[in-house]
Amino acid sequence: MKSGYLHITWAFQVYASGRWTLAQIHRELIARGLTTLPTPKRPSKPIAISTLHRLLTNPYSKGDVTFKGATYKGTHEPIVPKKVWYQVQALLDSRKSAADATQVHEHYLKGTVYCGQCGERLIITNAKNRHGNVYPYFVCSGRHSGRTECTRQAMLIEDVEGLIENYYEMIEVSPGMRQDLAGKIHADFDQLMANEAKELSRLTTERDRLDDERMKLLQAHYAGAVPIDLLKIEQDRIANQIGDIQHRLEAHHDEYASARAHLDDSLGLLANIVGIYQRADDANRRLCNQAFFHRIFIEEEGYTHVEYERPYGALCNTEERSTP
Ligand SMILES: [Zn+2]
Repeated sequence: MKSGYLHITWAFQVYASGRWTLAQIHRELIARGLTTLPTPKRPSKPIAISTLHRLLTNPYSKGDVTFKGATYKGTHEPIVPKKVWYQVQALLDSRKSAADATQVHEHYLKGTVYCGQCGERLIITNAKNRHGNVYPYFVCSGRHSGRTECTRQAMLIEDVEGLIENYYEMIEVSPGMRQDLAGKIHADFDQLMANEAKELSRLTTERDRLDDERMKLLQAHYAGAVPIDLLKIEQDRIANQIGDIQHRLEAHHDEYASARAHLDDSLGLLANIVGIYQRADDANRRLCNQAFFHRIFIEEEGYTHVEYERPYGALCNTEERSTP
């Protein structure tokens, strides 16, 4: 924890210098290994930029405590001098207004999360909380633009992040379920591949017959029974047919084998997804979400429902599941 404080002191100092942006400091802190504290349910992970922002705006760092909206002098050692703390607030405010003007807010959930009420995208905007501090929030773009009649309230970004994490806990398959699903999938594929084997054997027999026909035709030609121009026409016809069969044999060979492997991979991912997602950085979280979900709808009261990407809709056994 002591080293955590050192990181925070450093962050205040460099941000107050005005030469570093929040994103640069965030990257540097992650490179230095600053993580969240682990809890029994969640391992520690690199801190989010929203957490860094919260740390830099927390009056606790200058030795104060807040209680019911009022600020009091705390009894703890300040982490930074008051002067530095106020410099940081001034810089954050001025840069915030500049960022508001351009509206550039990238977040790994952007493009994945949607309003559960009207179905429009959730976008990030900065809003004041009841203490007058400015925080980034998810808001419904339908409501924000007035395009829909939506009344959806702004949502704290970390609440939405938490909802998605919880959702993964719900869809993760247990070892027993995994075995069960794998058994069903493989039984289906065994059936498909048995049919495929019949088709493969039919195609192979047909190819052997054509090879045989080609050989007989050649012998007939040598025996003087088939003139050269007819031989050429017949040989071309047989070559085309063999080419077609070869093509279908190859296509059949890949089709189920690769689909089967893909499903196995998907199931393996689903069996370990909570840990994978928890340890993932923002870029990989984005990839996870894009792989699993077409869209995630955030409802009031923290309910979530999703549209899955293939094949997870089938593996998760339902198109929509809700989580309290
Ligand atoms: Zn909405």
